[in-house]
Amino acid sequence: MCSVDPDELTEMTRATGQLDICGGDVLCRKCGTGTAEVVLRVKDAYCRDCFLAYFVHKFRSTIGKSKQIRHGDKVLVATSGGASSAAMLHLIRQGLNETSHKQLRFEPAFLYVDESCLSENPSPGQEYIKKVCGEVTSLNFDCYVTSIEQIMSTQEMSPVLFTMEWSEEHLPKSKSLEEGMKDLLMACKSPSAKEDLAEQLRQDLIVQAAKALGYQKIFLGDNATNLSIAILGNVAIGRGSQLPGRVHFKSVHRGIEIYRPMREILQNEIQYYVEIHNLSAVQAPGFHLQGPSITSCTEDFVKSLQRDFPATIPTIFRTGDKLMSSSSEQSRRTSPEPGSGAGSCSEVCVLCGSDLDTEQGEASAVHAILISQELSQRKVGGDSKGDKSTVNGSCESSDSAKLAENSCACNGDGGCGSGGKDSKREHVLSQDQLEGYLCYGCRIIARELRNIQLLPIKVLGMAAEQERRKLMREQIQDFLL
Ligand SMILES: [Zn+2]
Ligand SMILES: [Zn+2]
Repeated sequence: MCSVDPDELTEMTRATGQLDICGGDVLCRKCGTGTAEVVLRVKDAYCRDCFLAYFVHKFRSTIGKSKQIRHGDKVLVATSGGASSAAMLHLIRQGLNETSHKQLRFEPAFLYVDESCLSENPSPGQEYIKKVCGEVTSLNFDCYVTSIEQIMSTQEMSPVLFTMEWSEEHLPKSKSLEEGMKDLLMACKSPSAKEDLAEQLRQDLIVQAAKALGYQKIFLGDNATNLSIAILGNVAIGRGSQLPGRVHFKSVHRGIEIYRPMREILQNEIQYYVEIHNLSAVQAPGFHLQGPSITSCTEDFVKSLQRDFPATIPTIFRTGDKLMSSSSEQSRRTSPEPGSGAGSCSEVCVLCGSDLDTEQGEASAVHAILISQELSQRKVGGDSKGDKSTVNGSCESSDSAKLAENSCACNGDGGCGSGGKDSKREHVLSQDQLEGYLCYGCRIIARELRNIQLLPIKVLGMAAEQERRKLMREQIQDFLL
């Protein structure tokens, strides 16, 4: 295996045993005078001061060199209470307190997403809200709280500001949304799809929260280790085309800018930083997969390789940095969000908000899979097609021509409830119709779902709206010049 050097290929070397600094007789390789307290890359020993200077520099330079975060920018920082979030909170507080030219000058507020309804033991959710948000507010920052099940809601619910007098009533809980969220994840047949779906919904909720609170910029706590795992994992789950948006410092998601200021820092470095500053890092209750998934296997693979070959993560990470999206960021930024009323909104996936990557040439994996599906459906005849395309008992047909007459997947007999504006059944779409508005990665999720009608109503609504527009366009096509 090789690591890519800017100029040449160099062979990746196997590490031969971690440097032992327990005796206190090893000196820092940077200053040469301080006693080593931290060992990085197996052999590189640093004293506390040199390590902290290196760590803080990595964080600030990641923000600084991009020139994207300007004086007075309002930034919503997503925090989970984990080590990466705890370190980021501390780094931001320190950076804002700084008096030199290195001072950070944006205006942060924090957001905590309560995922306790998805954990095995949902009861301690409130405890963690108090713990994580209390930590944030003790440093004089505003902290907002929302819950993961809000993604299932039809209405935009603004996150709630955490106060010292916090009690359970401050965050209204809805049993039906909680159940809807759980049912949706339970309906995923494979653990990998379940994990991917939870990830997409979490990110979308954070973006929605930023919009509701009036923030244009979001900070996420992704570190180099997570991102390296995501680079390999996302290729394996069918999201290879979305990698630049997933791992670069900046990406734009439904019109909101997402930044990853911790991306240059490795997980073990964060752990050292948390220990040195005695920060409180917690693993909040939430969605944790039981059993292996593609991502968890990728994580094991990358981490075990990293132990023997310390250049593994930097190599994967740098390679990911070089990936460019085929659609430029500019076009992404200027393209209207789904449901915003403009004609080109069909270019964005209704579930994850990424650019649609399914319009590829004949020599693509997507095309090959489509042909394979078509052939296998033909072989077994109408039965399998019927099963696949009709996902709701009230829907009799997925035939586009029929749809054009009725402007709904139902037969127009009112069975779909299309008269009621807020009715969930208004958005009854067949699997094939829905897939037309999903990216490749989300199509895999949709196929792994036992019932696509369990998806968030907003997602189904956006797809139904686009389907209606498509049919309308087809109907008036003959009258257009
Ligand atoms: Zn030193
Ligand atoms: Zn998608």
